[in-house]
Amino acid sequence: EAKRLGRGHAAWFTTQMAASLRQKREIEMDLLEALNGEQFDLHYQPIISARSNRIVAAEALLRWNHPVKGMISPSVFIPIAEEIGLMSKLGDWVLKRAMTSAALWPDIEVTINLSPAQFYQSDLEIRLRELIAETGVSPTMVTLEITEGLLLEPSPRIMATLQAIRDLGFQIALDDFGTGFSSLSYLVEYRFDKLKIDRSFVSAISQAGSAQTVVQAVIRLGHALGMEVVAEGVETVTDSVTMRFWGSDHLQGYFFSRPLPADELIAFIGSYNSSSVALQFDEASNL
Ligand code: C2E
Ligand code: MG
Ligand code: MG
Ligand code: MG
Repeated sequence: EAKRLGRGHAAWFTTQMAASLRQKREIEMDLLEALNGEQFDLHYQPIISARSNRIVAAEALLRWNHPVKGMISPSVFIPIAEEIGLMSKLGDWVLKRAMTSAALWPDIEVTINLSPAQFYQSDLEIRLRELIAETGVSPTMVTLEITEGLLLEPSPRIMATLQAIRDLGFQIALDDFGTGFSSLSYLVEYRFDKLKIDRSFVSAISQAGSAQTVVQAVIRLGHALGMEVVAEGVETVTDSVTMRFWGSDHLQGYFFSRPLPADELIAFIGSYNSSSVALQFDEASNL
């Protein structure tokens, strides 16, 4: 009986693996084609200043509109693009497109995710310089987001790359904070401008448990190290009020808006910012 069950399980497992392997191969081939066609687009998710309650920034998020399969999530295709060596090229397309938009939106900061492949590209600094010239963007209005995964090893090379990016005038954010294993000493050493608290922590604050203590401590830590703190994944009015109350500087999440196509973002900012009343802590705590 146990043996039969075991074999059945193994068979199920290999079927699953074969299916996902086939799916991966398909995505690989389609990705190469998509880069030449016009299947990629950027959506932008508004980021709200907790102090002014106005939209002050937007995060560029890659979208792949597959001709047959429809929208494919970046968490599915980006790891594959990374694996087959296509991510620097795709990431370069993202940088150019997002910086072009940033140049057109003088009052809105644009934040752009930088993949590990891009970060380790030897000509990253040269390329960023070229993009500033080509797009006319002011780099002070652009934040580049990197993830903790990059920081597992302390290295002079990482330090030099971060410094070069900062010297060009860009800001740097540490994305998804709390999901990786980076040591606290890296936070001190690398001096990020912004710390983005991962949404898994933000979504846990409404439940009993240690998340509340952890999130409050992370906000204080970020501030003590001179960083601005961004709460990701703000989904409810309670998340929003709580993160604001605890001192998070910026708020981002479905509660305010999902990522939007560029034209919809501009319309959304117009209506949101013209109707927003600066929300004070005492007002907020009455909600
Ligand atoms: P991320 O950089 O942490 O981006 C935030 C993700 O959380 C986005 O997912 C966004 O749609 C989602 N999100 C925002 N607010 C909420 C919320 O309130 N609730 C929930 N459940 N989700 C929320 P998306 O667009 O699917 O992107 C997933 C990840 O893919 C990104 O996570 C980022 O790591 C990566 N990615 C997306 N675009 C790019 C890109 O252009 N370059 C690189 N290197 N990575 C990208
Ligand atoms: Mg991000
Ligand atoms: Mg994030
Ligand atoms: Mg995240």
